[in-house]
Amino acid sequence: MNPSRRPLIAGNWKMNLGGPESIGLASGIARVARELAGLDVVICPPFTALAALAAELDGGPLRLGAQNVHSKTSGAFTGEISADMLVATGCTWVIVGHSERRQFFGDTDSWVAEKAQAAFKAKLAPMVCVGETEAQREAGETLAVLERQLNAVLPVLVAHARAPMAIAYEPVWAIGTGKAAGPADAEEAHAFIRKYIAGTSEELAARVRVLYGGSVTGANARDLLGCANVDGALVGGASIAIEKFEPILRASHALTLS
Ligand code: PEP
Repeated sequence: MNPSRRPLIAGNWKMNLGGPESIGLASGIARVARELAGLDVVICPPFTALAALAAELDGGPLRLGAQNVHSKTSGAFTGEISADMLVATGCTWVIVGHSERRQFFGDTDSWVAEKAQAAFKAKLAPMVCVGETEAQREAGETLAVLERQLNAVLPVLVAHARAPMAIAYEPVWAIGTGKAAGPADAEEAHAFIRKYIAGTSEELAARVRVLYGGSVTGANARDLLGCANVDGALVGGASIAIEKFEPILRASHALTLS
């Protein structure tokens, strides 16, 4: 963590809690977030829960994000949701390029860039996910993969360098496996991401929050977020149970005080 960047913890609920049962969890998280000044907290529930949660959370500290967005504003794209629709529903954030989208739904580097552009145009903050697979890491390709993924989206990010946004480094092998990256590996990737961005825009590199994602828990949050270039976390599995998410929020907040 670096005191010049406000830490951000985001919960990616994936395809869970899409109905009224989402309200209890969101209210519990909002209660905790209200106590933790200096920490930004975002939840990304399924699309179907967004409107109800926007009404429930109105005026509170918790921000709402979506898990995906289409790159076009409207038209014949059955099943898709535009950035304007997300804003109208109360979202201020959207995840783009999550590895599950890349792996199962054909999101390419260039489409991720178009989605980020659509988000900025609607005044929605994109949380752009990048990260290598286990095979790529074993082949020594981690930094090359990050460079390729960043390269595609960087012009869009630089063009909106002063707008809210985040990058999430999510090694695919760490997502949902219980095998988080160690702090040294996370810091190496985060420092590389920041240095790579600085090659085009030092302003953006200094201000963009780079989150770590992949099996973050209450037990490892402190070590991961204690790294100089880790500005928060994107949390999957541990974000859908208050007893798992709350310790992550509290550990992150404690670091802001130290
Ligand atoms: C994610 O899906 O973005 C994620 C980080 O999942 P998990 O925390 O469950 O590894």
